[in-house]
Amino acid sequence: MATLMSNYARLPVTFTKGEGALLWDTEGQSYLDALSGIAVCNLGHAHPNVTAAICEQAQTLVHTSNIYGIEHQRRLADRLISLTGMENAFFCNSGAEANEAMIKLARLYARRKNIPNPAIIVTHNSFHGRTLATLSATGNPKVQQGFEPLVLDFIHVPYNDVAAIQQLAEQDNIVAVMVEPVQGEGGVNVPADDYLNQLRTLCDQQQWLLMLDEIQTGIGRTGQWFAYQHNQILPDVLSLAKGLGNGVPIGACLARGVAAELFSPGTHGTTFGGNPLACRTALAVLDSIEQDNLLQRVNELSEYLKKGFATQLSEVQGVQSIRAKGLMIGIELDHPCAELVQQALAQHLLINVTAGNTIRLLPPFILTDSQADKIILTVSGLIKSFLAMH
Ligand SMILES: *Cc1c(COP(=O)(O)O)cnc(C)c1O
Repeated sequence: MATLMSNYARLPVTFTKGEGALLWDTEGQSYLDALSGIAVCNLGHAHPNVTAAICEQAQTLVHTSNIYGIEHQRRLADRLISLTGMENAFFCNSGAEANEAMIKLARLYARRKNIPNPAIIVTHNSFHGRTLATLSATGNPKVQQGFEPLVLDFIHVPYNDVAAIQQLAEQDNIVAVMVEPVQGEGGVNVPADDYLNQLRTLCDQQQWLLMLDEIQTGIGRTGQWFAYQHNQILPDVLSLAKGLGNGVPIGACLARGVAAELFSPGTHGTTFGGNPLACRTALAVLDSIEQDNLLQRVNELSEYLKKGFATQLSEVQGVQSIRAKGLMIGIELDHPCAELVQQALAQHLLINVTAGNTIRLLPPFILTDSQADKIILTVSGLIKSFLAMH
């Protein structure tokens, strides 16, 4: 019997080395990574600045405890506050934990408003994580199946549908709206340009917290530091993880206004969260994105890939839509197409299929033009022969 639990369906490949957008397997074969470990290694693999920060910090101090002050944690909080416009930060080790903190803040907000049975509005096809509270918030029955009873009380509404939320305005136990600015796992669903603006207005009217899950969209992925910055609004609570440490585990929950006052000593915590190694690494990630002008590069690459795919695929029957926000790219086909992942792997390209029929690309920001060309040609070729056979 295998000694690893069976919770993952793994592809038949094991990587031992990476550099930039390339990975090498145990046989020494190289692969082009168009997925970045699911929007994590945004600066590519073994980025020199990040590697140097990890090595230096590992030689200095890895962990103490949140019983004590942590210099790099304070510096990272300051940095994120100035980048986000939020007011304070809590650090943890993963996306699910960042969302747990966000959900706990909503519960404390309810206590303050004397609401004993608070509800949070969430959306269909959302993904918020695998802990009990975050899988309850997730809008995908497959993620919840077998783990009932779920955590109460999440109200699921269609994504990109403000009217559906407006209809709940009379319900007086609602305390927050929790959404992804672009749904990642749900199929790269890009909402109307003013979706977040409308949610902001509605939350202000209702005194609900606007809680944005930017675990996938944050840290430059959509071409702004944070996706809500396309809308010139601020959320009340913000969760981050994936790209923040470029592979070193770190998550963050940031808050503003009343939400920034809710935690007091003893109300929340974690042993590892915000340790010197993780925070120092995240600071190096943010510095590198800034120094190397990578937001601009994300936008350039986004246009380049969109144009390339449009040229290759716009006339192809069976391509339902090509969606992109920055370097979150989804190509929806009219058939389930999970087998394309293995076919791409055979051509030494790493891609993902989500929501059954959507090819998802999350390439690193340091991708070269010729690597972008290779992604366009390989993926388009695979799609054309797949559709010709179905
Ligand atoms: C990946 C993801 C999560 C969960 O993050 P983990 O680090 O896997 O716990 C939550 N929300 C969104 C939008 C994600 O993409």
